[in-house]
Amino acid sequence: MHAPVVVLGGGPGGYAAAFLAADEGLEVVLVEAEPRLGGTCLLRGCIPSKALLHVAKVIEEAHELTEGWGVEFSKPTIDIDKVRARKDKVIETLTGGLGQLAKRRNVKVIRARGSFENSTTLVLEGDDPSIPEGKKITFDYCVVATGSVPAMPPAFKIGSDRVMDSTGALLLRDIPAKLLVIGGGYIGLEMGTVYASLGSKVSVVEMTEGLLPGADRDLVKPLHNKLKTLLENRIYLNTKVGSIAEVDNQVEVTFEGPGKFGHERFDRVLVSVGRRPVTQGLGLENTAAQVNQRGFIVCDKQQRTNDPHIFAIGDVAGDPMLAHKASHEARVAIEVILGRPAVFDKAAIPAVVFTDPEIAWAGLTDEQAKREGIAVATETYPWAASGRAQALGRTEGFTKWLIDPETQRVLGCGIVGSGAGELISEAALAIEMGCEIRDVTETVHPHPTLSETLMNAGEVHFGTATEIYKPKKH
Ligand SMILES: Cc1cc2nc3c(=O)[nH]c(=O)nc-3n(C[C@H](O)[C@H](O)[C@H](O)COP(=O)(O)OP(=O)(O)OC[C@H]3O[C@@H](n4cnc5c(N)ncnc54)[C@H](O)[C@@H]3O)c2cc1C
Repeated sequence: MHAPVVVLGGGPGGYAAAFLAADEGLEVVLVEAEPRLGGTCLLRGCIPSKALLHVAKVIEEAHELTEGWGVEFSKPTIDIDKVRARKDKVIETLTGGLGQLAKRRNVKVIRARGSFENSTTLVLEGDDPSIPEGKKITFDYCVVATGSVPAMPPAFKIGSDRVMDSTGALLLRDIPAKLLVIGGGYIGLEMGTVYASLGSKVSVVEMTEGLLPGADRDLVKPLHNKLKTLLENRIYLNTKVGSIAEVDNQVEVTFEGPGKFGHERFDRVLVSVGRRPVTQGLGLENTAAQVNQRGFIVCDKQQRTNDPHIFAIGDVAGDPMLAHKASHEARVAIEVILGRPAVFDKAAIPAVVFTDPEIAWAGLTDEQAKREGIAVATETYPWAASGRAQALGRTEGFTKWLIDPETQRVLGCGIVGSGAGELISEAALAIEMGCEIRDVTETVHPHPTLSETLMNAGEVHFGTATEIYKPKKH
């Protein structure tokens, strides 16, 4: 079998690449090892976690109404089987939809594990009837989108299903009385929030000095404060987990650090210490494509690898490991295959932490500006001054712009607060369009909305924000 374009991996990178190639009139084959399309994001990542976070959010909002608004709700009763079933139904609907979309576009889907025999041939492993005779496919171009899997340090592999990775945590087998989350990154905090809202006593241990390493510290602070309440102060920073062992149907964990020292037992442990790209076993050594020290396939701004027949996109092609970055790279790779002058200039890839409050950023961050010595004016608008935030009882957030002091262009934006993930797209557009901050302030925003805080944070730059008094600096 031969196809001009073969895509290896059916996650948000791979299916986006295959569908776009088909939309553009190319004959395309999509090779996916699993029975269902959707990859990590749909089957065991973005979508199931957000379905569960929705449940957590409604529970917490009901709690807030009871606490502060005089509307009494009783403690929720949770039918874990129904919660799990609803989450699974969301996945089923979406993955079924992808299967239909592939059919309608005439994308041939082969259910097989693929590996490179050489630069233009994939060997297909498996026994699905979709696999062609000879179990090989040749191609002009292959787009590798094999994604990533959770990293599990050997010390934590104790052969107990009480020690879970994010995939295990999303199965929602039960609501453990006590859950330890190892790793204070976004996946750990999102899943920790879910379990805490469902009733687990959750603790988080993080080796570095703060939650969400890499995010701007000011954005993390309101989240840290809220999590301290939700987790009843069980956030242990600067603390390492020494060892873990299963003892009497529990997991005994040794902590080594100023945040916590000594042993404690938990009913389950979630290990969320990062993800590693899937390049092993792909036969890349039979091609000219190269893998860097961290295991990512090396590629340029056009997603080309060192092999002229092979492109790489998504998690396997480097950070940030995000679904929308994968599908954008898919677009670039297919456009390049079509001979168009596309490149991926990573000016503004939005990142969202879907905790409560949410944290979102796009473009330059304060941490990066400091690290790289980039001069910026940082302008911040507190949500306490927003009528909408007051009406929602969500005043802990803020919106900030990072502005080039010379050109007045917006370089970056950070938002912490309820719904920050929805608000960040305006900032991403402004950064992509090369807007000056005045473009943002002179765009009329609807009132009363949280989106106004983007305009207001811009007004702070000129000392003209109506609802706060901050005299002109510039
Ligand atoms: C708990 C969790 C929550 C997340 N939340 C978000 C979020 O809110 N927003 C966000 O943007 N990102 C989120 N992510 C990250 C997101 O899931 C990934 O960035 C995204 O799925 C990467 O897409 P991809 O196409 O590169 O790879 P993947 O989605 O990992 O897909 C790769 C596919 O390739 C297949 N494959 C691998 N090897 C082979 C082979 N040899 N042959 C055939 N098929 C193969 C795999 O079976 C898989 O289906 C989350 C991840 C996790 C774990």
